[in-house]
Amino acid sequence: MTESHNAALLDGTAVAARIVEKVTADAAALTAGGVTPCLATVLVGADPASVTYVRMKQNRSAKAGIGSWHVELPANITTATLVAALTELSQDPDVHGILLQHPVPAHIDERAAFEAIAPEKDVDGVTMHSFAAMAFGEPGFVSATPGGILRLLDEYGVELAGKHAVVVGRSPILGKPVGMMLLARDATVTYCHSRTADLASYTRQADILVAAVGRPAFITGEAIKPGAVVIDAGYNPGNIGDVDFASAVTKAGLITPVPGGVGPMTIAVLLEQTVAAATRQQGRR
Ligand code: NAP
Repeated sequence: MTESHNAALLDGTAVAARIVEKVTADAAALTAGGVTPCLATVLVGADPASVTYVRMKQNRSAKAGIGSWHVELPANITTATLVAALTELSQDPDVHGILLQHPVPAHIDERAAFEAIAPEKDVDGVTMHSFAAMAFGEPGFVSATPGGILRLLDEYGVELAGKHAVVVGRSPILGKPVGMMLLARDATVTYCHSRTADLASYTRQADILVAAVGRPAFITGEAIKPGAVVIDAGYNPGNIGDVDFASAVTKAGLITPVPGGVGPMTIAVLLEQTVAAATRQQGRR
């Protein structure tokens, strides 16, 4: 008989619900004081996944008592038009947080668009200002998905100092910032990407493995160190993560499910940062 082992789950749904409960109370207190926190969502085009993500964020905002303002722009707009729309929202005193749904159509300069978001309203943590603040350990908004990942690890008491964290992916909104946040917590961090030679030789050394690749079931159990903490940030069509859950669950010590792991944590951090932004902006009025 072979011995079977199954990792324990990092339950993002449950942890996110606790965060959102506090956010809801804070939003109610702000509203009672005359300011309803407001998140503006901006969607360019009609990519079905993006439409779903934006709707999900609006629904969760509404449930938490956060107002939402939605801007939908056609896929063929120019960078200048998108920048103008984001600049207007940045200047609108009734809008406290701005989320530009990523990715935007390829012909648009996404970086220029992100940079049109005022840092004090950058509740999704996508601007260079927010990235630099995070990298230097200064106050600011963190990128929502990496922020959610760190919160989940902390909630489960995962020791980070001195551990080897391997991040597969180096995108500006996910892989790169999550590695820097792990570094700030004294993990030893290795970044892997599409040009990494012999990827599995790195992932097999990971005490903490973060998959942020965008390829369904890409990392399998045989590339995971026994007992590792596996964070699957991937979200591919059909609710499939970047980790092959069936094989990974028999090797890992702790693992995030997809869905119900990183996704709800991302939204919780987005809402939490929106209420924080409203609180700070109210203080300055
Ligand atoms: P991205 O911008 O496409 O970046 C993907 C990264 O993976 C890149 O750094 C790329 O390397 C690397 N990569 C691609 N193929 C690889 C390979 N064969 N071996 C090793 N590395 C490889 O994607 P992203 O925006 O970071 O998103 C990644 C995943 O997270 C997606 O599944 C996305 O849906 C999901 N996501 C989830 C949430 C959430 O809230 N749960 C939020 C954001 C994203 P190069 O840099 O060399 O190209």
